[in-house]
Amino acid sequence: MEIKRARILFTNIFYIRLKGTGILIDSGNHVSEKSFLKKIKDFGKIDYLILTHTHFDHAGNAVYLKRYGTKVVVHTLEKEWLKKGETPKPPGIDGIGKLAIRFSGLKSFKFPKTEPDIIVEESKKIHDLLVLHTPGHTPGSLSVIYDNIAFCGDLIMNLTFRPISHIPIFAHDLNMVRESVNKLREMGVKIFFPAHGRPVTIDNLRI
Ligand SMILES: [Zn+2]
Repeated sequence: MEIKRARILFTNIFYIRLKGTGILIDSGNHVSEKSFLKKIKDFGKIDYLILTHTHFDHAGNAVYLKRYGTKVVVHTLEKEWLKKGETPKPPGIDGIGKLAIRFSGLKSFKFPKTEPDIIVEESKKIHDLLVLHTPGHTPGSLSVIYDNIAFCGDLIMNLTFRPISHIPIFAHDLNMVRESVNKLREMGVKIFFPAHGRPVTIDNLRI
């Protein structure tokens, strides 16, 4: 397996190549098509785009990939948000989350609407990857698991300005976040690749 990473504004997106199949996890904040294609130019063909959830900084560029025949994968609870191009704002969890929602560029949770192709319920295999429902940050959050690695979107966040905790600064349901992390832990996940910040090992995870 080959993993590549790109950063689009403040979001990590990951490209995985498995025996000739290219899979992109998340598409980042909406940028121009030219900027997006430049960011992913080293990635090779993208057969699947798995959206860990439909926040604007993850689903922002999905619309461009549809033109190249990429199949867009989303959880059933968020398929309508993807089609509409708008996700409800999550309640802020801590002071930073609340402030960010109130004052920052997070006034809008809108992005270009996109038609999904593959809908996930509890789990789905995409090639050798397991796509698993890990709700908490949003109701339809997904993690992508390969071996002992989980690409977990915003289930955890590793923010340098907030080193005391890996709990996401926004969440739909904090108890669900912890349950989902435990589910991954019980499955043998040892390394979490979040969309914001660097990877975290299970031993260093503060949740
Ligand atoms: Zn999010």
